[in-house]
Amino acid sequence: MGWIQRLNEGLARTRAALSRSLSHLLTQGPDPAVLEELEATLLAADLGARTVGRLLERLCEEVRSTGQPERGHILATLKHTLLEVLQIRQSEPIERLITNGPKPFVILAVGVNGVGKTTTVAKLAQRLKQAGLTPLLVAADTFRAAAIEQLEMWGKRIGVDVIRHQQGGDPSAVVFDGIAAAKARGCDAVLIDTAGRLHTKTNLMEELKKVKRVLARELPGAPHEVLLVLDGTVGQNALSQAKLFHEAVGVTGIALTKLDGTARGGVVVAIAEELKLPVRLIGIGETADDLQDFDARAFADALFGQGES
Ligand code: GDP
Repeated sequence: MGWIQRLNEGLARTRAALSRSLSHLLTQGPDPAVLEELEATLLAADLGARTVGRLLERLCEEVRSTGQPERGHILATLKHTLLEVLQIRQSEPIERLITNGPKPFVILAVGVNGVGKTTTVAKLAQRLKQAGLTPLLVAADTFRAAAIEQLEMWGKRIGVDVIRHQQGGDPSAVVFDGIAAAKARGCDAVLIDTAGRLHTKTNLMEELKKVKRVLARELPGAPHEVLLVLDGTVGQNALSQAKLFHEAVGVTGIALTKLDGTARGGVVVAIAEELKLPVRLIGIGETADDLQDFDARAFADALFGQGES
């Protein structure tokens, strides 16, 4: 099943609730109770307060200016407003960023434990390999032996080299070796998996800053992408995580995971709007092929229903 279908399923309840609210709006007019219901539905989809405010504003304008609006018009207005937020945040395919960027192109993946960081980095390596590029994986989450082993396992499975040290080592040292190896082997991209233990937040952020410093010293301009991996099922929590990492290490792109079977994927809109960051990739399953580009129009269709644009 394609991600659009899965997203469609995930957002089915939201779509149905929206449809009900719109029916009320059309029969009762934009009275406060109807607008409140609609606002609650949009907020429940995790679109974020700012975007919801903008959607309602446009909707009221539409109702005022047309007097007797039609459902199709209203849906088109909502979709158009959402696309305005999302389309400017739609990223070009990551393969193109890498091909047009410096060599090796260094991607530092950050995010809290469990969001799908290791899996995303491995899936990305597979995608790059399939595109004819040579990626190198770097296991810089030295805090957990399991994380190193997991990345090594992925490396074997997809046929990509992994640079690793022992558990407990200095992540910056692994990164140092990773860059040296990538230069020596002529790799196109270096994908760095990092630790994500949030309960010792300060140390983690200091560690990531040090990794960034070492990267910049060993390869001026690196990292070329700080990819924040976020779990799409945690809703607004993803937004607070994003702010935290953005402040500490300067995020340049988002990968949103677990969009298969969640009704909370709307958070992608909140992130795009609040943080003004491009959504590079979405995760839609646990296998190596389940990492895709974010498509703003498909997302708007999944939320508001197809056929209106
Ligand atoms: P990390 O701690 O951030 O490195 O997270 P992992 O990469 O170890 O992933 C945590 C769990 O989430 C694993 O069971 C993954 O298989 C799962 N996972 C990662 N990405 C996705 C996704 O897009 N969809 C689903 N359903 N599961 C995912």
